[in-house]
Amino acid sequence: MPDPTPPRLQRVTVLGATGSIGMSTLDVLARHPDRFEAFALTAQVQVERLFELCLRFSPRFAVLVDSAAASDLRQRLKAAGSATEVLAGAGALVEVAAHPDTDAVMAAIVGAAGLAPALAAARAGKRVLLANKEALVLSGRLFMQAVAASGAQLLPIDSEHNAVFQALPQGYTRDPQRCGVRRILLTASGGPFRERSLESLANVTPDEACAHPNWVMGRKISVDSATMMNKGLEVIEAHWLFAVPPEAIEVVVHPQSVIHSMVEYADGSVLAQLGNPDMRTPIAHALAYPERIDAGVRPLDLFEIGRLNFERPDFVRFPCLALAYDALREGGAAAAVLNAANEEAVAAFLDRRVGFTRIPDIIAATLERACDLSVDCIEAILDADARAREIARSEILARQTTP
Ligand code: NDP
Ligand code: MG
Repeated sequence: MPDPTPPRLQRVTVLGATGSIGMSTLDVLARHPDRFEAFALTAQVQVERLFELCLRFSPRFAVLVDSAAASDLRQRLKAAGSATEVLAGAGALVEVAAHPDTDAVMAAIVGAAGLAPALAAARAGKRVLLANKEALVLSGRLFMQAVAASGAQLLPIDSEHNAVFQALPQGYTRDPQRCGVRRILLTASGGPFRERSLESLANVTPDEACAHPNWVMGRKISVDSATMMNKGLEVIEAHWLFAVPPEAIEVVVHPQSVIHSMVEYADGSVLAQLGNPDMRTPIAHALAYPERIDAGVRPLDLFEIGRLNFERPDFVRFPCLALAYDALREGGAAAAVLNAANEEAVAAFLDRRVGFTRIPDIIAATLERACDLSVDCIEAILDADARAREIARSEILARQTTP
């Protein structure tokens, strides 16, 4: 008897392949060549790293948003005898995300720039592995409608949401009451400044803000963790993913980052997902779902950890968390404005144009000035994003420290 034909490899597009999540995703793919193959790898400008990844994973497509970088990559791959086809521009991200030959799309571009290709993957009915939380913050309602309309399978990569997904009943119908779900408890490490004196926060440097105690991540999300805006964005993300109202989403500071989040049920049960803080766990979970595969993650040693601590979040130290809850409650364009202002303020902080404690001020001032924007279709959302950025830039200029 001839062997049965082996199952076809899952063809994975990795948006943001050169980033922290992208590289972790490729690490998991490389451990399972019998299950997965890289279909398309994308980046913004990093030619060198994408070139190496193309030689290693031989994707059908490589995309660079920057056209000069794309020409450079094309020449280098040609000289190296690679068959990978290089595409350029933001439109090519959408093309590979929705390509009929791709099965799964890892959405790991940072910021609002990741929205269009993630939404294209959702509309095309792909298995969407969503790391790019900003996409849901900007367009939660539309994004979830696109998933429902196309039958796409949406799997959260953010460790907290992946944990919640794992702690919810299989086939959760996004109806918390019917499923007996009382609350979602999102854990937060508290970032590098949980215990630092409030007065010294004004002078922290970008490198200090990016030195996260438990996770190694890209610079933007690292600053978001230091301001706790990351948790604020995650509250909004949880609201859209799991259809839970803001008052039923509680943030619990848990400095060890071992419990990745919890679901509390009507009968008093609280289900948690634990593990070492390593993004390859949620990535492998989502790639293989509903199966389980090796992720290369060190087993959890509870004896080594010894204890797990919990604290209430400090809304005075972390005003960004309160701003995010308020934006979610307000609805309309508020979350999109919050996100845009945050991206601009964080970029200005990373460029040393404004101090760390100016970040929440800039966001609050932008929210006040951009209250009447509309977000009823994707074009309106992108317009609101652009308008909020303009306002945020003027607020940044007003606070800019002269070099
Ligand atoms: P990185 O900064 O490490 O990587 C970002 C990736 O996106 C890079 O490949 C970068 O390309 C690409 N990129 C940046 N800007 C653009 C653009 N305008 N157009 C197209 N591509 C672009 O980010 P992370 O991997 O840390 O984060 C990615 C997303 O995942 C974020 O939304 C973050 O919030 C989320 N996330 C990350 C976690 C983590 O542990 N890192 C945990 C949970 C969520 P290039 O290299 O060329 O600049
Ligand atoms: Mg997270």
